[in-house]
Amino acid sequence: MIDIRWKAALFICALSIVSVFLWLISGLLTGLVIFTLGLLCYLINHIYWIHQLNSWLKTPDLSEVPEGSGLWEDVYSSLLKYERKNTLKQTELNSALERFEIVANAIPDGLVILSAANTIEWCTSHAEYQLGLNLSTDKNLPIVNLLRSSHFIAYLYNEVYDEPFKLKNIRSMDSTLEISLIPLATKQKLLISRDVTQIEKVDAMRRDFIANVSHELRTPLTVVGGFIETLSDMEGAIPSSISSYFGMMQDQTTRMRRLIEDLLTLSHIESNTQAPDDNPINMSMLMNMLLNDANALSQGKHQISAQTNPHFDLSGAVDELQSALGNLVSNAIRYTPEGGEIKISWQLRDNQGIFSVTDNGIGIDQQHIHRLTERFYRVDRGRSRETGGTGLGLSIVKHLLTRHQAKLEITSELSVGSTFSAIFPKARMIQK
Ligand code: ADP
Repeated sequence: MIDIRWKAALFICALSIVSVFLWLISGLLTGLVIFTLGLLCYLINHIYWIHQLNSWLKTPDLSEVPEGSGLWEDVYSSLLKYERKNTLKQTELNSALERFEIVANAIPDGLVILSAANTIEWCTSHAEYQLGLNLSTDKNLPIVNLLRSSHFIAYLYNEVYDEPFKLKNIRSMDSTLEISLIPLATKQKLLISRDVTQIEKVDAMRRDFIANVSHELRTPLTVVGGFIETLSDMEGAIPSSISSYFGMMQDQTTRMRRLIEDLLTLSHIESNTQAPDDNPINMSMLMNMLLNDANALSQGKHQISAQTNPHFDLSGAVDELQSALGNLVSNAIRYTPEGGEIKISWQLRDNQGIFSVTDNGIGIDQQHIHRLTERFYRVDRGRSRETGGTGLGLSIVKHLLTRHQAKLEITSELSVGSTFSAIFPKARMIQK
């Protein structure tokens, strides 16, 4: 096909040759008139096709692309090809979008795309049902105006989305949704809501069962323990040949009592859906208390030191945090042989509060670290039992920290030592 520029040049050349020929046989005037008329016709022809193009562009329709003539035939044929390709792409895009919507709506979890400003951009029908949204009216509205739960708002703005969040009573009184937020590369967020009402009910039954059993066991065990203690204290009541058995029975009842107390604590924390208190905690004081407790527990067998950043306090429930942080300290003492060193510290790192306990004790092999917070998970059962452990300590610590939106970080090396750190979000830090 000849290039458009060549076609135009060819026409001008042909017109010029004809005009020069007429000039030679009929004079200059005739040549000029014909040349001008030729150009005029050429111009009118272009104006006509530009007008056709303009009219078509107003309501572009593939079946009505003008055919054109001369140069315009090429232009329109290219336009037709482009439009065909475009329509094909559009159809492919539409069907991909349709497929995506069908798949997204078939997922039982609700999906919501939030903008960087946390307004609703798009959601699936399950999200509409679970969260009580209506995309046609709620599009571009801030999600916090529609999900009016102070806990959800705190979770959203806290920007720590490692753990999903439980949202209660949104659709009906006893419904529970598990909300996960995933930041997308475009600063948008993907909110995933999952109906966990049934799972929660089963979990609540399990918790109640454990709590009831533990509660029921507590009284008989106290009685048995009491009798054993009384008998052991009574001079001559136990023949010396079996007195060692009584010592063992006493140890075992004490262990069982500790286990029951830990089980009750754990089920109490797990079933407590109330947010913890938000009281200012004097960290210098708390660190002193932890240090004193540690020294009492160690009985001078370890070198224990504490380092505190005095400019920052924490907000939360003091009894819960004292128990969680105290547990980390007591673990360090229990799993560090005599003469070992234990360092407790409270520091600020990237606006987050870091409480950490470092020991140079027995350490933990890498393969165990991710499982330590599971209930009853113990690296060495014998050692845990020897040191009075129940295997529930770190599980309780994790729950208490999660209630404060804090994370537990563990680094350890076998035979070298461990560091257990509780990392508190910026929102919980109080500058003094
Ligand atoms: P336990 O009551 O058995 O100590 P925890 O839940 O407190 O239970 O801890 C779980 C396991 O993690 C322990 O059995 C122990 O093996 C390991 N562990 C915890 N803290 C330390 C530590 N500081 N050094 C070495 N091992 C530890």
